[in-house]
Amino acid sequence: MPQNDLTSVDRAQDDATSAQRESRPRKIPRIVVLGGGTIGLYSARRIRRRLGKQDAAIVVVDPRPYMTYAPFLPEVAAGSIDGRNVVAPLRQALKGTDVLQGRATKIDHGAKRIQITPQEGEPYEITYDQLVIGLGSVSRTLPIPGLAEQAIGFKNVEEAVAVRNHVINRLDVASSTWDQDVRRRMLTFTFVGGGFAGIEALGEIEDMARAAIKRYDSISDEDMRFVMIEGADRILPELSLPMAEYALEELKKRGIEFHLSTFLSSCVDGHIVTSTGVEFDSETLVWTAGVKANPVIGESDLPTDKMGRLTVLPTLQVVDADGNVVPDAWGAGDCAAVPDLENPGKFCPPNAQHAIREAWTLGDNVAASIQGNSLAEYRHKNIGTVASLGLYKGVAELFGRFKFKGFPAWVVHRSYHGGAMPTLNRKLRIFMGWFDQLVLRRDPVSLGSIHDPRAEFRHASLPPKKAVDAASTDDRKGEKVGTTGPS
Ligand SMILES: Cc1cc2nc3c(=O)[nH]c(=O)nc-3n(C[C@H](O)[C@H](O)[C@H](O)COP(=O)(O)OP(=O)(O)OC[C@H]3O[C@@H](n4cnc5c(N)ncnc54)[C@H](O)[C@@H]3O)c2cc1C
Repeated sequence: MPQNDLTSVDRAQDDATSAQRESRPRKIPRIVVLGGGTIGLYSARRIRRRLGKQDAAIVVVDPRPYMTYAPFLPEVAAGSIDGRNVVAPLRQALKGTDVLQGRATKIDHGAKRIQITPQEGEPYEITYDQLVIGLGSVSRTLPIPGLAEQAIGFKNVEEAVAVRNHVINRLDVASSTWDQDVRRRMLTFTFVGGGFAGIEALGEIEDMARAAIKRYDSISDEDMRFVMIEGADRILPELSLPMAEYALEELKKRGIEFHLSTFLSSCVDGHIVTSTGVEFDSETLVWTAGVKANPVIGESDLPTDKMGRLTVLPTLQVVDADGNVVPDAWGAGDCAAVPDLENPGKFCPPNAQHAIREAWTLGDNVAASIQGNSLAEYRHKNIGTVASLGLYKGVAELFGRFKFKGFPAWVVHRSYHGGAMPTLNRKLRIFMGWFDQLVLRRDPVSLGSIHDPRAEFRHASLPPKKAVDAASTDDRKGEKVGTTGPS
């Protein structure tokens, strides 16, 4: 078993050693935080601020070594922010905390054990005294023919960077072929799901692609087709109807095609078929049709609601269906049904605005419970909603009263999220990147081959005839599999 520099984690590798370990009382309580995202990072920092290293050990578990600030993913896809700058490295941001890079694959709260599957090596277990669950959500997909093979999600920085490289690469490919069918297919970009993530991703990417084609003599504005498929009869349910309609009209003016009250029926081999009978070929399919709670929770012995979310009290303690607190278990964020005390009977929406504040309350309460102090309830009145629709374009609604459109809304969006980005280091990098862009303009370059960096070396290692064949097969494979291939 590979060792690392962990100071507070004993791993229950086999029954004998774990039994021995269990019989030893721990000197200080160990708090295990599952997920190093918004909840994980902010709550671990808060707990560490309230409890010193002599009071508690904190272990954060995440398959990625960084926290991703998802509201900036559309700007990563548009190239307005470097992908590296929307992530906060956990080891740097979480001083005095152990970070385990691995996936929690089993939660046995009865035995207070977590199974962790690392990227390499065998799964192992760790034990804990207090458990914080911030496992977030996963894309909510449907059994649509072709979806798993053709589509890409838009939930993490890897996907945002891949979408950017793919879209620019499709422009390169389309500009280098005389085949009209191939060109049409390459230049048709389809998005499914007109909520926040989908509209922002579509708005930013369309804007970036329109700016990019100025450098392609053979591609005109009319050649590109951007399509949004949305099941509801409106977009952006997070905004008031008049503001959502403003966003819809603005995007339509840019030539974006909207199919509302429409579902994706099939997308086998990139042939899109909608529930209303519309059919076309599209090389790019971005799936942003909602999220669901991380399924690891549903497979555990912790209580969940019918949507698979962890049930919690306003104190963010896990609670069962009979209203009994599950001792030593806490949860918040996208994976939990957090009661919204400002809107009785409702739950807090799954967004970063709530997640950051829930994490603060959660961290305070975990520390208070260890110190024997009373717990606080999470309560937050929605500040508002801001969405970017491309460079210098946006829509924002603050405190239910102040409404901004176009450039002022875009400034509000950048200021709000720039301020909310964790760590001063990242804030500065993002603001400096925006300044660079103001002066040096957009940089529409695709580093598509980064998704298969060994390809060229692989070809060079083959005999000359085979190398030529392999290179062209790989290039064509890249075209066919779209975003998942070496574009
Ligand atoms: C494209 C996009 C745009 C968005 N825009 C906005 C916006 O403009 N405004 C806004 O308020 N909100 C926005 N959100 C929503 C917001 O980002 C989330 O609500 C928020 O990040 C939820 O925090 P969380 O901690 O619950 O989940 P996350 O921040 O997603 O963290 C979950 C963590 O769990 C880790 N994890 C997953 N599985 C495991 C496992 N098995 N074991 C261990 N760790 C695991 C993940 O790697 C991740 O680090 C956006 C989201 C997306 C995807």
